[in-house]
Amino acid sequence: MATERTLSIIKPDATRRNLTGKINARFEEAGLRIVAQKRVQLTKAQAEQFYSVHKERSFFGELVAFMISGPVVVQVLEGEGAVARNREIMGATNPANAAPGTIRADFAESVEANSVHGSDSAENAAIEIAYFFAGSEIVG
Ligand code: UDP
Repeated sequence: MATERTLSIIKPDATRRNLTGKINARFEEAGLRIVAQKRVQLTKAQAEQFYSVHKERSFFGELVAFMISGPVVVQVLEGEGAVARNREIMGATNPANAAPGTIRADFAESVEANSVHGSDSAENAAIEIAYFFAGSEIVG
């Protein structure tokens, strides 16, 4: 499997509970290297744009409000099959369905406040990484 990069976001429910270090340890233990990272307060426009694929869904307004309710940590993870590997250790969207030992099973509060975002394809990873990072900010 090839070395890939994926975009990760540690969401406001997790930064609020001071879980950044614990979640980062999960990435590193899984063989993913954090090659870029910054803590930011998203604007409403940024959150709406980032989640625009969901704009017709009933939960869109609440999701945007949640994503701007506090700081997030946006990061680029690098490793063998990083997109799939990250999705595996994140666990299912709804923590009630997330496999034991996954980040969401262990830390998420609800289907909305589910602690982490991870790109769902290599194609989306490239788009999402470019949305948050200049090439010079990613140091592999
Ligand atoms: N979400 C929500 N309610 C739902 C489904 C999703 O609030 O019923 C939120 C949740 O924070 C999720 C995000 O919308 O992580 C994006 O949803 P997606 O289906 O893309 O899940 P993910 O790829 O994050 O697992």
